[in-house]
Amino acid sequence: MYLLLCLGVFALGYLANMVMITVGYHRGLAHSAVHLSPFVRKLVVHGGTWVTGLDAKTWAVMHRRHHEFSDTALDPHSPSNVGIFGVMKAQVDSYLRTMEGLKAEEPEYTRFAHGLESGHRWVYHPVMRMLPYILHFVIALAIAFGFDAFFLGLAYYLGLMSHPIQGFLVNSLGHAVGGRNFETDDDSVNNAIVGWLVFGEGYQNNHHAYPRSAKFSFRPWEVDPGFAVCVVMEAIGLLRIDYPRLIPSEVPVTLPIKPAESKPVVPEAPSVH
Ligand SMILES: [Zn+2]
Ligand SMILES: [Zn+2]
Repeated sequence: MYLLLCLGVFALGYLANMVMITVGYHRGLAHSAVHLSPFVRKLVVHGGTWVTGLDAKTWAVMHRRHHEFSDTALDPHSPSNVGIFGVMKAQVDSYLRTMEGLKAEEPEYTRFAHGLESGHRWVYHPVMRMLPYILHFVIALAIAFGFDAFFLGLAYYLGLMSHPIQGFLVNSLGHAVGGRNFETDDDSVNNAIVGWLVFGEGYQNNHHAYPRSAKFSFRPWEVDPGFAVCVVMEAIGLLRIDYPRLIPSEVPVTLPIKPAESKPVVPEAPSVH
């Protein structure tokens, strides 16, 4: 029973972190593949940091750079530059570098920030940005020692703060281990296991071919649980899916895709940084 409780708490934390990132940060903010309701958008921009430990704007800018420079020397976290296991460190380094670039308003970074609200500047402070991690660590300690439940506290912390593992699976295996549906000009592949573990994010090849599609799966047997979450959220009015941009599901697979489709990486957006 205790083991089940630990697993349940881990799963809930893992799910909260994953949905915030794949639906809020990725499909919502970075690509505008779904249009978040004003309330949800505020929640993601201002509350996302407290759930994931990652600043939404910094994440979205880093991710847009990943699309722009996929698997070239400028890619923030490509296994072709640093190897599969090097991605773990590269994604942390790139996140911090992106944060520094935004803080200093370097054009190399701010040009990827259009349409993104400025979050809280405190996240740029090296100590302050650790607050979400400290908060959840304190809660985990309270669970562990207050209720004499060490593994429950551990499950809480590891589940909620699981973004480095989720990111590693997507950024490394999603660009190195798997098959391809589309001839994109990068090394993106589709990895079904990562697709299940990170709610559709494993279908990197489909996603790089159609970056503004809210749905990452293409073949009938590919499953994108993240898109299912979007459909449910749309049904209760929390977001709107951009249907005209969806990856075509009934079109026979023809390679290569139109180059024009592979490039609109960053949403055409309003002018502001
Ligand atoms: Zn990618
Ligand atoms: Zn993307």
